[in-house]
Amino acid sequence: MKLFQCLRCDECCYFDNEERGPILFEEELTRVKTLAKNRGFEIRYRELSINGVRVYRWLIKGYCPFYDKESRACTIHSMKPLSCKMYPLLYNPNTGEVLISRECRWVNDMVNSGEVLGLENFPDETRALEEALSRLYRIRVKVH
Ligand code: SF4
Ligand code: SF4
Repeated sequence: MKLFQCLRCDECCYFDNEERGPILFEEELTRVKTLAKNRGFEIRYRELSINGVRVYRWLIKGYCPFYDKESRACTIHSMKPLSCKMYPLLYNPNTGEVLISRECRWVNDMVNSGEVLGLENFPDETRALEEALSRLYRIRVKVH
């Protein structure tokens, strides 16, 4: 089984449509705003609600302002939002489906070479997905 390995092709940090920008939870928005302010710019966003939880669409047109084209890397890697951490996994709240995006070059290459992909190919991304879902559906784990 092949584990996901980002090819650093830059495609997921470039947005031709700002309505496809990353989704941010409240504290992620605060964090990203502060990071942006420290670098002398502001971010734009739009409020949304998923399952009654307030989240935000980060409106980005073109390259994400935190993307460094030279090194082909995210400059806030350890602090990036869950929606970036879980990519190429996507969650559709309208259908409840988790999608493995073929817009990701690694995914597309794997599918074209006949690999059958599942969440087991994406252990780190699945952890980020689980965290996002447990926040959206307010799942708490307790010792009982
Ligand atoms: S925060 Fe990082 S990973 Fe997310 S879109 Fe921006 S550059 Fe890409
Ligand atoms: S599209 Fe996929 S392979 Fe390309 S940078 Fe994004 S996650 Fe990595």
